[in-house]
Amino acid sequence: MFVDTHAHLFYPNFKDDLDDVLNRAKEESVDYILIPATDINTAKEVISLTEKYDFLYGAVGVHPHDSKDWEKSWTEEIRKFAANKKIKAIGEIGLDYYYDFSPVEKQKQAFRDQIELAIGLNMPIVVHTRESDDDIYGIIKSYKSSNLKAQFHCFSGNKEQAKQLLDLGHYISFTGNITFKKADELREVVKYIPLNRLMIETDSPFLTPVPNRGKRNESAYVKLIAEEISKIHNISIEEVGKATSYNAYKFFGIGEMPKVSFTYQLNGNLYINITNRCNSSCYFCEREGEAVLKGYNLSMKKNEEPGAEVYIKEIGDPKKYKEIIYCGYGEPTIRWDVVKEISKYVKENGGTTRLNTDGHGNVINKKDITPEMKGLIDIVSISLNSADPEQYAKIMGIDVAMFDETKNFVMKAKQFVKEVVLTIVQVDEIDIEKARKFTEEKLGVTFRERPYFG
Ligand code: SF4
Ligand SMILES: [Zn+2]
Ligand SMILES: [Zn+2]
Repeated sequence: MFVDTHAHLFYPNFKDDLDDVLNRAKEESVDYILIPATDINTAKEVISLTEKYDFLYGAVGVHPHDSKDWEKSWTEEIRKFAANKKIKAIGEIGLDYYYDFSPVEKQKQAFRDQIELAIGLNMPIVVHTRESDDDIYGIIKSYKSSNLKAQFHCFSGNKEQAKQLLDLGHYISFTGNITFKKADELREVVKYIPLNRLMIETDSPFLTPVPNRGKRNESAYVKLIAEEISKIHNISIEEVGKATSYNAYKFFGIGEMPKVSFTYQLNGNLYINITNRCNSSCYFCEREGEAVLKGYNLSMKKNEEPGAEVYIKEIGDPKKYKEIIYCGYGEPTIRWDVVKEISKYVKENGGTTRLNTDGHGNVINKKDITPEMKGLIDIVSISLNSADPEQYAKIMGIDVAMFDETKNFVMKAKQFVKEVVLTIVQVDEIDIEKARKFTEEKLGVTFRERPYFG
């Protein structure tokens, strides 16, 4: 369930009991561990550890503390290590002005040389930064138009700094420092980072999380970091595990693509992934891309779409969830019969159903399906996207006539369900106020803005 993306298991502290440390990590559902080297010698140790244990991976590079004698020729040595198939990144590298163990100019040179090596090898980097945020950002930004992918490990900057890095497409990783009593500001930063850009790590043997502070840190404790994030983001620890492990897969190539989920849990609701097919093609939709949401793989081909019985089995007792929601990267009314069959089960067993749709169900099914919603669907959420017909059609890649079709669908559905909600994604160019007015005054239904979840 978890990936500890940063643990220096080659440290002498682990010499006597590494097997016990690894067993404890396994017991706490740590699937993989990434060990970043800090110099040329430890890179060799990292490689031998990763060759000995399947679930260990490594990064090779020279840490700012060890870059006082940096020579450009060292990159050739690092390049050789990086060719090993268990080595997944160049790291850890960066700038540390707090300890000042190496002259600043040397640190910068080592950092740049290794970034360029990573770019050439198409490998990600693991970045260490301490009291050097402006210089780090300046250097990282100068590679903006390259394929550079960076993980900012043990992040301790502020929201503004995090935003700058996120805007450049990079990832942020947190360690035990987020559990410390005085870390309220940092916890605010954690809250700000979207789940699809977060990773977790221990930085063992350092930065041991509460309540083990003072002891040696080890990979099993990554669960405590995940627990803290789950409290901050108000989600389950499984959700944190799923999302951060998927990020580690995407970023480092560690682990595997998650299997297709027919149902998925988020915020106390159960989502039903009915289909990946859709009659629209909204420009922001990930349907044809990766179609992974918070670590759940929602991409399925037509011939993989299961029957109602599979969903019903996964639902079990629908009262366990706030709502049973038909929603995936696709239009659920394309499989209207399956939606009805599942809904019948949910309603007979005391659950609440919500249909998230583009409102084109009548055209798709070549009949008026709204009367069939009666008693089966409690709430219908329809994506309005824009109150301007031309813009609506452009966003969704469909004929402009579908705007009126959606409007009619709203008016009809209103008669057969408890609530109709029109939603709009918060993207800059949309006139939200116009959409709100149109929804509330013209159509007389509920309006809701929703964040783009990409
Ligand atoms: S209607 Fe929904 S599923 Fe279809 S393309 Fe648009 S966002 Fe994607
Ligand atoms: Zn570090
Ligand atoms: Zn480290």
